[in-house]
Amino acid sequence: MSSSDLIIALTKGRILDETLPLFAAAGIEPVEDIAKSRKLLFESNVPGVKLMVMRGSDVPTYVEFGSADMGVAGRDLILEYGTEAFYEPLDLGIAKCRLMTARPVGAPPPTERLRVATKFVNSAKRYFAEQGQQIELIKLNGALELAPSMGLADAIVDIVDTGNTLKANGLEAQEVIAQISSRIIVNKAAMKMKYERINDILARLRLAVEAKVS
Ligand code: AMP
Repeated sequence: MSSSDLIIALTKGRILDETLPLFAAAGIEPVEDIAKSRKLLFESNVPGVKLMVMRGSDVPTYVEFGSADMGVAGRDLILEYGTEAFYEPLDLGIAKCRLMTARPVGAPPPTERLRVATKFVNSAKRYFAEQGQQIELIKLNGALELAPSMGLADAIVDIVDTGNTLKANGLEAQEVIAQISSRIIVNKAAMKMKYERINDILARLRLAVEAKVS
């Protein structure tokens, strides 16, 4: 890989399914089918532009440290990582959902310190501190919805789209902590060193996003 390459880190999974059509509309396409390959780094049709595919929680790390020049990451993971680590110039308007608190249906107001299970510990800590509410945080990496019924927590903080997952587990959404969508993030040094190419890609993606909305 040459240091003059422009590397874009993409979040795999459902965000990738919405990212690829948007990138294609912006004239950037992988030269092979990402879904059919076990590779993690792909050439694109744009000379010198390469695409990496990884877990969403790793995209901010790659972009902060400059191993990727740009990335596509959910705002939930950006908020959790810290928004100062890179620039966040474009909202792609895809993979929209909300970061919310949720409690068992009909649960009485907490009488003592609320126990909150989440993988979004920084966002949860910040939110409840802003509310002036003392909580005990329990870090989980998955199956958050089980925590209240199994007696591990009184509430969870999680991503909600349709609300079906909460409902299926006897929970109801309560407060919205943040509106979530996927964003373009850019390494701070790369924004200076590779300004023209990054700016060109941002302009093309911006047009693709606007065309999709209108
Ligand atoms: P739902 O049942 O539609 O409310 O979906 C909730 C589950 O889907 C959550 O547990 C999330 O893990 C996942 N989810 C939904 N939308 C997104 C998104 N845009 N980004 C990441 N995860 C999501």
